[in-house]
Amino acid sequence: MKKKYFITTYGCQLNVHESEKLAGILQNMGYTEANNIKTADVIIFNTCAIRGGAENRAMGNIGALKKYKLENKNKIIAVCGCMTQQKENADFIFKTFPFVDIIFGTTNIHLFQKFLEDREKTQKRQYDYSEDFNLKSENCPKYRTSGENAWVNIMQGCNNFCTYCIVPYVRGRERSKPQQDIITEIKELIKQKKYKKITLLGQNVNSYGNDTNQINFANLLKEICSLEGDFKLTFMTSHPKDLTSEVIDIIAQNDKMLKEIHLPIQSGSNKILKAMNRKYTVEKYLSIVEEIKSKIPNVRLTTDIIVGFPGETEQDFQNTCDLIKKVQYNGVFAFMYSKRKGTPAENMPNQVDEETKNQRVNEILKLTKENKKEN
Ligand code: SF4
Repeated sequence: MKKKYFITTYGCQLNVHESEKLAGILQNMGYTEANNIKTADVIIFNTCAIRGGAENRAMGNIGALKKYKLENKNKIIAVCGCMTQQKENADFIFKTFPFVDIIFGTTNIHLFQKFLEDREKTQKRQYDYSEDFNLKSENCPKYRTSGENAWVNIMQGCNNFCTYCIVPYVRGRERSKPQQDIITEIKELIKQKKYKKITLLGQNVNSYGNDTNQINFANLLKEICSLEGDFKLTFMTSHPKDLTSEVIDIIAQNDKMLKEIHLPIQSGSNKILKAMNRKYTVEKYLSIVEEIKSKIPNVRLTTDIIVGFPGETEQDFQNTCDLIKKVQYNGVFAFMYSKRKGTPAENMPNQVDEETKNQRVNEILKLTKENKKEN
């Protein structure tokens, strides 16, 4: 009988796609997907480090895996992702949860088959921590699990260092995948005819190509749109400081482009945007929104908001609410600021208390519901 795996994924689409790579490795080894965690021979937790709450939940859930190991000592438990790309967390898991067999981060996904085979051969726990940020996992086989949508990673890492964000520390600096590899991957997806939507992925897709001498993001979009086939193209995530008029024009003019843009604003206060190191102002952001709406009248515009960033006053928060009302987004994803160890915002003065953050996030939820009713 074939061995089975079960993967639990926390966090963003990038993690979902990385779980598709782990599944691809396992499928190539002859494993099949288990319907539930109990029947799996290999259990993987692919973790996220963006918010403290997600980390705590993941730690609690890892602890709860012990019972599966007690039921069957041959079950293999692996923990990977952004959380274990932080040495302190990886060490903690290794020491605290002796039933976890394999621990690795975001840099060494391509080595998962080796970790698994070594664990089975030697019965020794495998713990691999590396800060060698690379693009090697791009060559992993992929077992796609997102229906008609296919994720295509075009770059890894981020150079922006927003003061609240852990990503540049756990994903490294920007590395663009070679243009030819992207085109080959997409041509293969089109040939399979089952993917009607292709979503290009990256922490800041607009800076694609900045680290190499190859084409920029706008030209990459043009080249993909020129491929024959029945598919729609979209991307995430855009940084407002890097979204160019050229990219907006391509979305407006090309039938293959979905008329949607996710454009995180994070705050409607210039003081807070500066403290966040976002490198744009509210005025600049609104001018981009105006350009988008005038060129793409039926656009679906969504955003991310962080409430309770250190120093956010009631007035700063009300500015954010005003901006939401003004832009009339089709979707708003609001999050409470969460302290991340090692980021500049961790030690900023005037941290906002949890109750206020809660109230503010609920106010935004209410506001966006009202917006929807009016639309
Ligand atoms: S742009 Fe800012 S928020 Fe986005 S991944 Fe980079 S540092 Fe984090």
